[in-house]
Amino acid sequence: MKQKINLLIAFSAIVLIALSAMQYYLVKTTYDYKVEQFRTEIKDKIAKITNDYSDIDSTIFYKKDLLYKELAEIYLLDPERRSQIKNAILQNSFKAELTKKLQKEFEREIPNLELDFAIVLDKFVIYNEKEADTIFAEKPFIENKMYGNLASLDDAFLVRNYVGTTSGKSLNADYKLLTEDTLYVSVNNWETIILKRMALIFVFALFSILTLITLFVIAIKALIKQKKVSDIKTDFINNITHELKTPLTTLSVSTKILERKEVRENDKVYENVLNTINRQNNRLQNLIDQVMTNSLGYEEIELQKEKVAMPNFLHSIVDDFQIAYPNVAILTDFDNQKINLNLDKFHLTTAITNVLENAVKYGCQNITITTSLENNQFNIGIKDDGIGIPKSKHSLLFDKFYRVEQGNLHNAKGLGLGLYYVDQIIKAHQGSINVVSELGKGASFNISIPSF
Ligand code: ADP
Repeated sequence: MKQKINLLIAFSAIVLIALSAMQYYLVKTTYDYKVEQFRTEIKDKIAKITNDYSDIDSTIFYKKDLLYKELAEIYLLDPERRSQIKNAILQNSFKAELTKKLQKEFEREIPNLELDFAIVLDKFVIYNEKEADTIFAEKPFIENKMYGNLASLDDAFLVRNYVGTTSGKSLNADYKLLTEDTLYVSVNNWETIILKRMALIFVFALFSILTLITLFVIAIKALIKQKKVSDIKTDFINNITHELKTPLTTLSVSTKILERKEVRENDKVYENVLNTINRQNNRLQNLIDQVMTNSLGYEEIELQKEKVAMPNFLHSIVDDFQIAYPNVAILTDFDNQKINLNLDKFHLTTAITNVLENAVKYGCQNITITTSLENNQFNIGIKDDGIGIPKSKHSLLFDKFYRVEQGNLHNAKGLGLGLYYVDQIIKAHQGSINVVSELGKGASFNISIPSF
């Protein structure tokens, strides 16, 4: 069964991871798609604005055309000056002016976005019918920026290419000029804009995955709890069968003895057997009572409260206990302040005696009992030097039918009802009980009851 549960948990965990991975993949794909969609939107808008530089400023467009022709002619007259052409284009005199105009245009047409841009020079080719002379052809680099305020192309995306052609005459020969530049744009806070657009998807994805994880945890917890309950019930049945067997066997043997004539005629033996029957009968009665008493939860227990004087009440419990267990050394360190508490004497005596009896049952030689009064709480500490309880079992200790050594029975007999009863009684008094213990280091039970 345990193996089955582990397999189920492992399988569910794998499915959960696979689902989460799939969810991640879907969200990531949507994100990529949204980024692409956003860029297309920007491209469309910008395309409308900057179809041609002449749309922005025809004077600058004219100056630019003039500069290009001038440079082409310089080159055709003196091909040695080829290397100067690129610099002359990049350092053009209308650089700042055109940048400003484009910026203004963007601000006017796309007011809700903060844009940085760069137009970089890619190609400068002089050609005629016979041949083409590529003066310059490079991939887009920010170093080749002609206009714009962008400092790097890293976060920018390509909006469009501009191919320009013009023609002229040099040394009586016609030539044509082809130039190519690229517009790059970077939108400030573009990630935030896209994340905002995807907010609903994120919330939905997160919600569905969290719901799935919660359901998974609830289901596994319920399964483990059910397994625990079923284990505890099996243990209880084993324990109670074990407990019932001794008195029942003794009763059956005793009845057989009584059937013998010579026993019936011997008064002493007869009486002895009758006493044994009585004792076993009482034991059976006690066992049944224990189970019956513990069928009630603390909400249903009806307490008969009365004023009880402390620490006298505890002294009387300890004295009675010492008579029953003369070999156990009991040390008391009571707060001498006299105080009256509102308690059910009978139930509280049984509860404290249960804790003391457990101490003996689980191997102690010495018990120390202390009391203190703090913040309107009366505290009773019962410390023993017995076998102790592993920390991992503390949370289960007060559960109904719980015994530390489940499955194989303790050397010490019991039904796992003692501490459950103590807990219920203390709770019925609006108090609390906890345990401090480690395996092999004794156990300390601390009871706290309101003193008002
Ligand atoms: P029972 O004694 O009938 O088994 P209890 O409810 O009284 O049931 O105790 C539950 C379990 O807690 C016990 O089975 C025992 O393992 C552990 N236990 C209780 N008191 C002590 C103690 N003083 N020292 C060590 N173990 C203890």
